[in-house]
Amino acid sequence: MRHSIALVLLAALAAPAVLAEDEPVMRHSEVVFMYTADNEAYEAYDATFLAWSGAPTEEEVERHHELGMRCAASIWFLTAGAQLLHEDPVLHDAVVKDFDGNPVEVPWLFDHRHEGQETWFGCTNNPDYQAHLREEVRGVMNGGADSLHIDDHLGTAQTVDHMGGCFCEHCMTGFREYLENEVDEETLDDAGIESLEDFDYHEFARGYADNVEEYIEVQWDIPLMEEFIEFNREAAAALTGEMREVGAEAAGHPILLSANAWIGQERHRTVLPYLTHVVCENPHHAAAGTDDLGGAIGFYEFGEDYGIPVAATAGGHDWAHAAAEEKYTLVQVWVALAYAHGQRFMVPHRQWCFTEELGTHWHTFPKDVYAPMYRFIRANAEWFDGFSAAADDVETPDNVLATLRTQDEKAVVHLLNLDYGADADELRSQEEVRVTIPADAIPETESVELLRYDGESETVDVNFEDGAASFTVPQLTVWTLAAFSE
Ligand SMILES: [Zn+2]
Repeated sequence: MRHSIALVLLAALAAPAVLAEDEPVMRHSEVVFMYTADNEAYEAYDATFLAWSGAPTEEEVERHHELGMRCAASIWFLTAGAQLLHEDPVLHDAVVKDFDGNPVEVPWLFDHRHEGQETWFGCTNNPDYQAHLREEVRGVMNGGADSLHIDDHLGTAQTVDHMGGCFCEHCMTGFREYLENEVDEETLDDAGIESLEDFDYHEFARGYADNVEEYIEVQWDIPLMEEFIEFNREAAAALTGEMREVGAEAAGHPILLSANAWIGQERHRTVLPYLTHVVCENPHHAAAGTDDLGGAIGFYEFGEDYGIPVAATAGGHDWAHAAAEEKYTLVQVWVALAYAHGQRFMVPHRQWCFTEELGTHWHTFPKDVYAPMYRFIRANAEWFDGFSAAADDVETPDNVLATLRTQDEKAVVHLLNLDYGADADELRSQEEVRVTIPADAIPETESVELLRYDGESETVDVNFEDGAASFTVPQLTVWTLAAFSE
């Protein structure tokens, strides 16, 4: 048993398993599942949070709370889905319309068709589609989940900068109102617009292109394009924010709100002020092994600088590669990489994989490879929670990535082995790893404790000399924490 009977009773009585008010939305040591799993899997990983999908019923919410977990339910802004588009004439019309007035198929859902009906983008500026989304939120939140997750939060905005959308009447009206309220006279003058009365951006854009192919080619030369894109991003962000209220009302208590925001990209950042945390895909370039992780790291660093907690997974292509080639060690690096940078990597349990050839497919990764890592994080939460990134440089040999995180009189250096051989899916063990840090970045102490999930902890000496502190890690297998306290 991992919790007392009193706790189980409490969880069963009090609906939401929310944190105390002064607790962060997500602790750094949070162990996050992306998708629902059975109790056995949750307990194997010592899970604390279900972040994506989903606990849409009272029974499911209760099951998670009894395990001491908080849980989310989720919807997507992307589409009503091929079946509903086929069956419901209102939703069939409430879709993104491109420059030629045609619906836009979701490119990566080419294999999701119903009776010949393609999967089209819904238009998040269309009141009928918005009503559908609110209904979806109520449907998944009335079980009382703690959090609502929104996938494809960009909605219509996703189609605006490279797919020729959206010129439906609602988008045109919305953009005219946006120009009236948010854009100054000078910008309108520069665009040659004298009056906004009856202004129609579609008609305006027709002065530059005759069809959607031409439009996509020249759209960046069309005046007010940046405003058009900004309008769409802000509209999608505000709609995302509104869903927190809709969800809270259905749940009967305040809720958290996350989105699959690829914060590495500018267009995914407009929504951040509306969110409590980010639950997202973070591309790891799996085919490059450990050689191309800069983007993934930048993603985590942005989250920390912005001050928003992130629970990430790799991208669909990464998972497809790791699954097909059984690169299970590489995935261990991804887990450690996120936690070394102050964020969380969602448990690689059952993963969504995607390639152009295979479309959507799934793979279950082996529990015995990853559960020890997550149990280690939970057991050593005191070396994760409440720390923040320090600017000081840590010197290590090549092939060893190091981050320094500090809190009051404590400091922790995360050391991560990047000497990865893709053919054997193997990390070559690093021996006698010398680590040097500016002396004033850590507490003055004679020794440091080395913690790792795959071996006994040990204590080694720290030497202070010429303003630098150094110590030697006898063996670095995957990931070691050097924990300093006074
Ligand atoms: Zn539209």
